This record gives sequence, structure tokens and C-alpha cells, in this order.
Amino acid sequence: MRNERIIIIGAGPCGLSAGLALQEKGCDPLLIEKNNIVHSIQHYPLHQTFFSSSEKLEIGGYPFPSIERKPKRHEALVYYRHVAQRSGLRIQSYEKVEKVQDARGSFSVFTRTKDGQECRYEAEKIIVATGYYDNPNKMHIPGEDLSHVFHYFKESHPFFQKRVTVIGGKNSAVDAALALEKAGAEVTVLYRGSEFSPAVKPWILPDFYSLVRHRKISMIYEAEVQHITPAEVVYAQNGQTFRVEADFVFAMTGYHPDHSFLRNMGVEVEPETGRPVHDYHTMETNKEGIFIAGVIAAGNDANEIFIENGRHHGERIAQAIVRG
Ligand code: FAD
Ligand code: NAP
Repeated sequence: MRNERIIIIGAGPCGLSAGLALQEKGCDPLLIEKNNIVHSIQHYPLHQTFFSSSEKLEIGGYPFPSIERKPKRHEALVYYRHVAQRSGLRIQSYEKVEKVQDARGSFSVFTRTKDGQECRYEAEKIIVATGYYDNPNKMHIPGEDLSHVFHYFKESHPFFQKRVTVIGGKNSAVDAALALEKAGAEVTVLYRGSEFSPAVKPWILPDFYSLVRHRKISMIYEAEVQHITPAEVVYAQNGQTFRVEADFVFAMTGYHPDHSFLRNMGVEVEPETGRPVHDYHTMETNKEGIFIAGVIAAGNDANEIFIENGRHHGERIAQAIVRG
């Protein structure tokens, strides 16, 4: 067993940023990450361009120079690696936190390394920065688990000259549809809404609408997907049932945090919003000594907290911890 003062669970941009804020106050937290740092960004579509300019993704005051104003995924990977290395943050990668238990005045943290070794730590404070990207929102419809149905889009090449249905109507869905069409896929988008919401970045819509107008992308609104077969997607629209042929399906239906992970450590989660109960000023949860940082604080709404604002949670946490 190892004794630590502060353990941060998750080394995404917001976990790293919390680590840097604590370092700035003279603390030396331990970050435990189940993959490697910024795993969610590594998992983005290969050629993703951020909608944020690079300075809005900066953490710990380290400058983020990028070729264009809005950096690409691989530039962000370089940047966060650089910050992690330069700062000397203590990061244990490929170690998953499985459980956090109250140990009367401190916490026991149980982990498992990638080679199956179980480890235990004792810590006074815990910061949970585990994000949401590991848990796709399931539609709970028949066929969703078929092998040609995906909840993540990585790259378009394998779908050249294939019929692809994209489900969803926000940024991931529109981005995937654009990339797939560009690579020669025959794309249909099924969206349950009647128009795109303001959450969709306005600068990607003109290209999308133009492709729809020119019948390069087939856009179907108010489409409630009912089930998926190996060759079709079946949906209802205005009380009628329709089918679209699909070799592959991308269900870009968003992501949500692992609520049970939080609940098991005594953090209450609002049932409707999925938001962990916490004090906005300190980011401390209802469970004294357990803090949250990053998108996990937003609960189910993926469009409320981003790197842009979640990167500042660490400063509030550091202040609260140092103040005692
Ligand atoms: P994450 O980045 O998800 O990090 C959580 C980390 O915790 C992960 O590395 C994970 O492996 C680790 N972890 C999880 N569970 C455990 C465990 N049990 N034990 C140990 N480690 C664990 N935001 C912007 O501000 N600007 C943008 O332009 C932008 N573009 C985006 C583009 C795409 C395609 C997507 C999907 C998202 C985009 N976002 C953007 C949102 C941004 O990615 C998230 O807001 C950000 O990743 C949140 O950071 P985080 O540190 O809270 O969580
Ligand atoms: P999201 O914003 O949560 O959108 C999910 C979409 O799926 C919504 O249109 C939603 O419909 C639909 N949906 C959810 N559950 C459904 C169900 N059961 N059946 C049918 N449709 C369902 O997820 P996202 O687009 O993946 O975005 C996630 C995060 O990544 C956001 O923060 C986003 O801004 C970010 N992102 C950024 C970029 C970029 O920087 N370029 C690109 C992609 C994503 P409703 O609209 O009706 O809710």
C-alpha cells in the first residue's frame, strides 16, 4: 500500500490541468490513468479539427502553438505530451481505478494495472476527472450490437463506395457524415429532431446543407430509429415505417459519465441530469474530500463543459484543498 495526499483519477486535459493547478500551489498529486494521457483525444476521429482555438485548450500556462488557429487532434496530442513531460507531473498510466472506499478520514483507492496486478493506495483527497467518452449513449434497440454498428467514428476510408447511415444530429454526426461523403460513401443521416440545434458549430453547417441540397447526403429529420438489421436501418417518421439500406451504421448518439463509479464512492448523482452533487465554487462533491473536474461535472449534457471551461476546475479545487 502507498500513501498519497492527493490522487487524481484520469489524465485527460482536465485531470492534467487540475494536477498543474495543485503543483502551482506546492502539492505533488499522483495521477492514475487507465490508458495513456488524454486518451479521449487519442480516440477522436483521426483527422479531427478542434472547434476551439489552441489558446483555449492551454493548461497550466503552457503555450500551445498550432499551425492554424484551430489545432488538429495530433497537434493536441503533441501539446499535452509536452506539458506532461515538462511539468514533471507524476502520472501512472495503464492503471485503472476500480474502486474508492471511505477509510475514516482518508480514502482507499484500489487499482489494477494492465498486466492484472492489483494495487492499493491511501489518499486524503480524491479528484475524479474520468470524463464521459468511454460510455456511448445506447439507443437500446434491436441490432444495435451488430458488428457493423459503431458508436465511434475514426476514419472514412473503409467506407468508400459503401452505404452508410449516420444516426444523430449534433457535431459528431455532422462531422462523420461530411468525412464519409468526402471519402465516397453513400451517406444517409437519420435525426430524431426537426432541425439542428445551436450546439452544432455553425461553420460546419453550410457545407453540410450544400451536400444535402445537391443530394450527395440524404438527410432525414424526425426519424426515430426502431431497429437495425445486417442490411437495413428501420425507422419511423410521422407514424409510418421506412427502411434504408446500410452496409455500416454510425450511431453518433453522444456519451455519458460512468455514474455507478461515482455512486459507489458515495457521490450522489441527480437522476434526471446525471450531474454529480457538488459545490460549484470548490468542485467538492457531497462526499467530503472527493472533488470532480472536467466534463464529469456536467452529467449527461455533453454540450455544457468542454476543455475550454473544464480546464479551470483545477484552480478552484487547488484553492479549496490548500485553504483546508
Ligand atoms: P476526458 O478527456 O474524457 O479524460 C478522462 C480520462 O480519464 C481519460 O483519459 C480516461 O482514460 C481516464 N479514465 C476514465 N476512467 C478511469 C478509471 N476508472 N481509472 C483511471 N483512468 C480513467 N472540447 C473543447 O473544449 N474544444 C473542442 O474543440 C473539442 N472538440 C471535441 C471533438 C470531439 C470529436 C469530441 C468527442 C470532444 C471534443 N471536445 C472539445 C470535448 C473534450 O474532448 C472534452 O471536454 C474533454 O476531453 C474533457 O476532458 P476531461 O479531462 O474532463 O475528460
Ligand atoms: P451529443 O452532442 O451528445 O449529440 C448526440 C446526438 O445524438 C444528438 O443529436 C441527440 O439527439 C442524438 N441522440 C442521443 N440519444 C439518441 C437516441 N437514443 N436515439 C437517437 N438519437 C439520439 O454528442 P456528440 O455529437 O458526439 O458530441 C459530444 C461532444 O463532443 C460535444 O461536446 C461536442 O461539442 C464535441 N464534439 C466536438 C467536435 C469538434 O470540435 N469539431 C466534433 C464532434 C464532437 P438530440 O439532438 O435530440 O438530443
